[in-house]
Amino acid sequence: MRFVDQVVLVTGGGSGIGRAAAEAFAAEGATVAVAGRSAEPLAQTVKLVESGGGTASFVVADVTREDDVAALVETVVRRHGGLHVAFNNAGVFVGGGVADLSLAEWSRAVDANLTGTWLSMKHEIAHMRSHGGGTIVNTASNLGAHARRPGISAYVATKAAVSALTRNAALEHVSDGIRINAVSPGPVDTPMSLLPGETPADRASRLRSALPIGRVGTLAEVTSAVLWLASAESGFTVGHDLVLDGGATA
Ligand code: NAP
Repeated sequence: MRFVDQVVLVTGGGSGIGRAAAEAFAAEGATVAVAGRSAEPLAQTVKLVESGGGTASFVVADVTREDDVAALVETVVRRHGGLHVAFNNAGVFVGGGVADLSLAEWSRAVDANLTGTWLSMKHEIAHMRSHGGGTIVNTASNLGAHARRPGISAYVATKAAVSALTRNAALEHVSDGIRINAVSPGPVDTPMSLLPGETPADRASRLRSALPIGRVGTLAEVTSAVLWLASAESGFTVGHDLVLDGGATA
């Protein structure tokens, strides 16, 4: 119960890693607010948290829009009385190599993955720095600062930028009592790690040889790292980018 009396914001909380993190934070006593662009999946996450005995609410917000992000933080603080932890996890996968990407595809990746993470931190920090500090965890990827893969240049570049932005932000705000870190997962058990047309069984057989550990990462293996970075247990960890990839970049 590391998050009793704490308010936790999870962006991209309507599915995948974000939903699992919302459930995990709530199971440890947090009041959780989940955000994303569509109400229905967010409402489903709230239902799941509540059916586990937790407390949650949702806010529809697009992290690429500054007015949405400002309103998101303001709503969470007004509704729940504070903001102590933020998990900036909203992101999109965009395929395509340098010569093939359209400007619209490039911008979609930059806007959601990089600008969205920056805007989220900007408004979270504005609240936290004048209310006793807090912790922030950003979702980067092992494809970025740690490994590159041809054919997904916009994704790789934006996730490397999230890793760099995390380290810089951590140095800028550690003296405000705000600890900022990142997780950089390899392939995790969500649809995002499926290649086009691939089934989970196909992915399992691909990863048996493609990853040193021989399997996909579980949601629990990611969320346990996120919760550690968000908790007081990691109190001396600042600007770290924790790679969780089954040895892919070891
Ligand atoms: P996911 O289920 O697609 O989650 C992404 C979430 O982000 C969705 O709930 C989506 O909701 C939200 N989102 C996207 N654009 C948004 C925007 N502009 N504003 C607000 N919310 C937005 O995929 P996931 O696998 O859980 O991925 C979560 C994060 O982990 C992403 O940042 C991803 O890049 C990263 N990651 C995933 C893997 C993997 O193998 N799965 C590996 C490394 C890193 P809406 O579309 O409803 O807005």
